[in-house]
Amino acid sequence: MIVTMEQSTLHRARAGMRARDVDALLVGPGADLRYLTGYHALPLERLTLLVVRAEGPHTLIVPTLERARAEAAGLPDEVTLVDVGETDDPYAAVTDALRGVRASPRLAVGDRLWATFLLALQAALPDARWLRASHITRELRMRKTAREIAALRRAGAAIDRVHERIPDLLRPGRAEAEVGRDIADAILDEGHESVNFVIVGSGPNGASPHHETGPRRLERGDPVVIDIGGTLDGYCSDCTRTYVVGAAPGGFDAAHTALERAQAAACAAVRPGVAAEAVDAAARDLLAEAGYGEAFIHRTGHGIGLEEHEEPYIVAGNDLPLAVGMTFSIEPGVYLPGRFGMRIEDIVVVTEDGYERLNTLDRAPVVV
Ligand code: ZN
Ligand code: ZN
Ligand code: ZN
Repeated sequence: MIVTMEQSTLHRARAGMRARDVDALLVGPGADLRYLTGYHALPLERLTLLVVRAEGPHTLIVPTLERARAEAAGLPDEVTLVDVGETDDPYAAVTDALRGVRASPRLAVGDRLWATFLLALQAALPDARWLRASHITRELRMRKTAREIAALRRAGAAIDRVHERIPDLLRPGRAEAEVGRDIADAILDEGHESVNFVIVGSGPNGASPHHETGPRRLERGDPVVIDIGGTLDGYCSDCTRTYVVGAAPGGFDAAHTALERAQAAACAAVRPGVAAEAVDAAARDLLAEAGYGEAFIHRTGHGIGLEEHEEPYIVAGNDLPLAVGMTFSIEPGVYLPGRFGMRIEDIVVVTEDGYERLNTLDRAPVVV
């Protein structure tokens, strides 16, 4: 018997369910399902539902045509796979899986389950009381295990290698969309299994934080915000650097220096017990002092793991204390509409005595 094995996520979910008096978790396709079972289900109009019981057996209900994929996922031993044919009632399989729960069970339903499924479940289980599964799964998913951190570290190193290739792609006259296609290829080349997003914001387009790519052609004197991410071994990467084609325009260098200081200050604020909002404030206060308070128009960061954006959010009003194993972005930006934008983004993990960066590239603007 292997005694050093990490407790299964299902086992840990059970502890959270008992603490909240939840009889069952009902989880559809998405990150919670992958977290609990390793199964990467397709979001279909047919019901796929994991039923995790506080007491009793766990069941994964899938459409018959998905059975082979679910088996190939290597489900945990304690999950029984049940498939439902095209003309059978999948909600009868759910009530079967819940046989023996109390008359008016408390059911925690996955936050991303489509309304069409939730409404049908509520009709099939009229006496149940409903809450969100994230009350239980967020506590687990926010604090990464050593295995998850290792996966995030590999993803971070891979996206860093993509950034190292970008100077060769940025030439005056090339369209953002062309550059973006090359970057997407490089994301796959460097080991990701999928490309999640590619932002190439050149010149004034950089002032729109989520600008993706477009027909605009790079010009000499353009700052270019490049924010890219993919998935590697199930875990996400996400890293931003700002490049400059030729010489930077007036005002760029001073703003970028302030931004580097703000990003470093936010990272330096990270340690166990510090509130998430204090990390946001560390970046925001410095940018405000330097005169860019109005130009920093979004939160400082977001958690990252199986999803690109997940808890914890590094934002004013979030007094959640940081804890060892939490992973999130630190990505302050300065956006000057009609002129240009800039952002620096690294993923950090909270350690016993502070933080570790999972992106290690230099943070100065890269002049090409
Ligand atoms: Zn974003
Ligand atoms: Zn990003
Ligand atoms: Zn991000």
